[in-house]
Amino acid sequence: MKPTPQQHFGSDNYAGICPEVFSAMSDANHAHAVSYGDDEYTQLACDKIREIFDTDCEVFFVFNGTAANALALSSLCQGFHSIICQQQAHIQVDECGAPELFTHGAKMLTAPGVEGKLRPEDVLRLASNPEDNFHSHLPRVLSLTQNTECGTVYSPSELSALTAAAKQKGLFTHMDGARFANALVTLNCHPADITWRAGVDVLCLGGSKNGLGLGEAVVFFNKSLAKDFDRRCKQAGQMASKMRVLSSQWLGLLNNDVWRRNASHANNMAQQLATGIKATGKININYPVQANAVFANLPHATAQALHQRGWHFYEFPGAGYRFMCAWDTAAETVEAFLADLNECLTANE
Ligand SMILES: *Cc1c(COP(=O)(O)O)cnc(C)c1O
Repeated sequence: MKPTPQQHFGSDNYAGICPEVFSAMSDANHAHAVSYGDDEYTQLACDKIREIFDTDCEVFFVFNGTAANALALSSLCQGFHSIICQQQAHIQVDECGAPELFTHGAKMLTAPGVEGKLRPEDVLRLASNPEDNFHSHLPRVLSLTQNTECGTVYSPSELSALTAAAKQKGLFTHMDGARFANALVTLNCHPADITWRAGVDVLCLGGSKNGLGLGEAVVFFNKSLAKDFDRRCKQAGQMASKMRVLSSQWLGLLNNDVWRRNASHANNMAQQLATGIKATGKININYPVQANAVFANLPHATAQALHQRGWHFYEFPGAGYRFMCAWDTAAETVEAFLADLNECLTANE
């Protein structure tokens, strides 16, 4: 028996807290600070986000991505509205109905798109209500996931085309950016180019998968939509009383470009993993590897043998097995996995 591997490819949230975040929390952990966000750390973290996006946006810190999405969507639409999203979107399949609950009934309208990406024609089609009467939900929001559930990345021009279609139909645009940093470093553009300059109204900026212990930021570029958002957070149990514990983490992540470094590292490990998987000559990779995910068609027996050797990763029916790399995935972990993969493939022959 080999020892259980220390690292896995199950998800990027299998990783712990990155050292810079830990030390920023530690730096904030002295004396007293005003509660509920009226403290200097929270002020600095909000200002840092405004600086990064180069605009005067409204920023809120919540505990997780499900809450960020559900609360953001609840400020964009009412229960009789609908939300257009890709069919594997986290808001559609992974949030246990939180967006529907918090919006009091908004309906998801989905399309498969291509390689995890919606296209403008999907938006135009889903937003067209042929009857145009009060019997159906009224389309109100376009929700885009950057990077996508398939590990692909929307370019600035793809985003602009999508938000233009949304505007044409009178929709707001929400972005689920649980892995925003991974997309950003792939595109090597300004954060504004894939958010407000591309027509995004509100961004849920991921923290946990990028190196925080916990937390996501809700960033309103369209400030009028942020009205009473603090009350929504409080009512949903998403208002940290000791807010500096959440917000100081963001200082550790965003200062000195740690967030970009973490994301680049995860993306590079995914490239290394994909290269090794392709080199077996026996396994198909299902989507372009543009961020930190690799989807591969392992034979089931091989996947089972790898699980038996202690590797965690998940099957996504229709998309193969998913391998996620994190900010701390070691090159040695990738090598050890590939060695096991090659052994298990040979054993199956
Ligand atoms: C992980 C993830 C989230 C956040 O999920 P929580 O577990 O609620 O923090 C949101 N959207 C996407 C696309 C994700 O992958």
